[in-house]
Amino acid sequence: MQDCIFCKIIRGEIPCKKVYEDEDVLAFHDINPAAPIHFLLIPKKHLESLAHAKPEDTALLGKMLSLVPQLALEQGCANGFRTVINTGRDGGQEVGHLHIHVMGGPQPWPRRS
Ligand code: AMP
Ligand code: ZN
Repeated sequence: MQDCIFCKIIRGEIPCKKVYEDEDVLAFHDINPAAPIHFLLIPKKHLESLAHAKPEDTALLGKMLSLVPQLALEQGCANGFRTVINTGRDGGQEVGHLHIHVMGGPQPWPRRS
C-alpha cells in the first residue's frame, strides 16, 4: 500500500516511537496522545479496518489482542487500560489501516458512574 501512512511507518519511511515489533505487528506511540500513555498496535499486513478482516486473519487478530496486556504493562499501564478500534467513517476511523488504540495512565477518563 504505497500511500498508507501506517504502511510507510512499517517500511521505515516515516519515523515512529516504537513500542514493540515482530514479524507480524508493530506498536508505536500515538503522535497525538489522548491519554498519558497512548500507543497503537497495527498488523504489518495492510488491513483497511476491522470490517475488512477475513477468516484467515483470525490468528493475527487474536495475537494482537493477546499482546495488548503485555505491552500495556510494559508501557506503564499498571492499573488497567482502554482499548479502542475505530472502524469506518461512522466509527471515527481516520487512518485506513487497522489499529488498536491502547490508552492508560492515571485517571485519563471522566468517570461515568
Ligand atoms: P483513528 O481515528 O482511530 O484512525 O486514529 C488514528 C490515530 O493515528 C490518531 O490517534 C492519530 O493521532 C494517530 N496518528 C496519525 N499519524 C500518526 C503518526 N505518523 N504517528 C503516530 N500516530 C499517528
Ligand atoms: Zn497500510
